[in-house]
Amino acid sequence: MTGIGRERMVRESTTVVVIGGGPAGLTVANLLLRLGIGCVVLERQSRARVEQRQRAGIVEHRAVRMFEEWGLGERVVGGFPHDGLLEFRVDGESRLLDEADSTEGLTARLCPQQILVQRLIAACLEDGGDLRFEAADVAIDDPAADRPVVSYRAADGVRHEISCELVAGCDGDHGVSRASLPDGALTAYPFDHGIAWLTVLADSPPPRHPLLGVSEHGFAAHFGRGPHSSRYYVQCPPGDSADDWPDERIREQLALRLSVAEPVAGPITEKEVFQLRSVVHEPMHHGRLHLVGDAAHIIAPMGGKGMNLALYEAEVFARAVRDHVHGDDSGLRSYSEVCLQRAWNYQEFSRWMTEMVHDAGDDSLAGPFRRRLARARLDRLCSSRAAAGAFAELMAGLA
Ligand SMILES: Cc1cc2nc3c(=O)[nH]c(=O)nc-3n(C[C@H](O)[C@H](O)[C@H](O)COP(=O)(O)OP(=O)(O)OC[C@H]3O[C@@H](n4cnc5c(N)ncnc54)[C@H](O)[C@@H]3O)c2cc1C
Repeated sequence: MTGIGRERMVRESTTVVVIGGGPAGLTVANLLLRLGIGCVVLERQSRARVEQRQRAGIVEHRAVRMFEEWGLGERVVGGFPHDGLLEFRVDGESRLLDEADSTEGLTARLCPQQILVQRLIAACLEDGGDLRFEAADVAIDDPAADRPVVSYRAADGVRHEISCELVAGCDGDHGVSRASLPDGALTAYPFDHGIAWLTVLADSPPPRHPLLGVSEHGFAAHFGRGPHSSRYYVQCPPGDSADDWPDERIREQLALRLSVAEPVAGPITEKEVFQLRSVVHEPMHHGRLHLVGDAAHIIAPMGGKGMNLALYEAEVFARAVRDHVHGDDSGLRSYSEVCLQRAWNYQEFSRWMTEMVHDAGDDSLAGPFRRRLARARLDRLCSSRAAAGAFAELMAGLA
């Protein structure tokens, strides 16, 4: 440890510094640990805060298989069965889509993001991983340098400088990784879906199957987030705030849109309005910095692909690092191209589904022509085995 003036400083060295301890960063860390590659994770928040963040709830089959192949299946995604049924309730009429039917039983698992994160943290620490929470003022000195230096201030006030071979920018859309790149290094492709959702968390049992309500009253959805917790989405006018939605109005609208007498059995614990937006930043690397997960793109939530894309990219990156330490950089060179191919595939799927469930309901946004197109799309999905098969493949992450 050295002292500069009154500030204490520790200089360290490792192979990979991971910035951000969400699903992307923690998966990178676990996989590198299994490869015996040195890695330090810097997470801005406390462990408790990270472990409580409730967001996504679907882990696609591809990701389940990935954790199994790395010997982490039971520890990370074990115990979350899903019968593969998805329910559309269109004008109150139920239409069940059996994803398992066309993927030979290979369906996603209903695993809440916070549980996945808790388990990834536990697995990493049990196996001797180096996770550092409450890392403040993280900065990357020069991502294009041969050995970039990542600095941060630890909770005890000591400043650390870690020199490394590679940096994994896993710190989400508002992190420091992408922001530290020079202007013009990346190109952003943003898209505003022109739709807002009120997102609601409640201490309420999950529905029998993930439930999507389509009707003239607007879109709504009900998903499980564990045995006693549910997330609801309610389409609302862009510009609304959570104050426009007192609990009574939420319960009333959910009952109407989902055609359920009492859709929220317990207390509402959280509500927030957000605009559905998507963005992709290309390329997904600059020098020694590789962006993973939300740091590189945001996908609108319809289709449940944001977290799954983060898990996919974490594995592509880990394999590329494995080859790099053996002198082969081809995986690092193709990282961006490989990841962007899946990112755009998932963006298309999410946009396709977003359009279908919104346009088919309230036609005040898209108009009566598009309403009829969306209804035709929904009818085809629920009546054609081939259409249902293509949908199921995407949901399972197999396409
Ligand atoms: C309300 C909501 C619902 C969602 N629903 C779904 C869904 O149903 N299905 C789905 O697949 N996806 C969903 N998503 C998206 C999903 O949650 C994200 O795609 C996923 O969390 C991406 O993981 P990540 O690790 O890339 O980023 P994040 O989970 O955002 O993790 C980034 C981490 O970096 C840390 N960090 C940020 N800045 C810094 C810094 N300067 N220094 C150090 N650390 C930093 C953050 O604290 C955080 O822990 C939803 C998102 C939201 C907000």
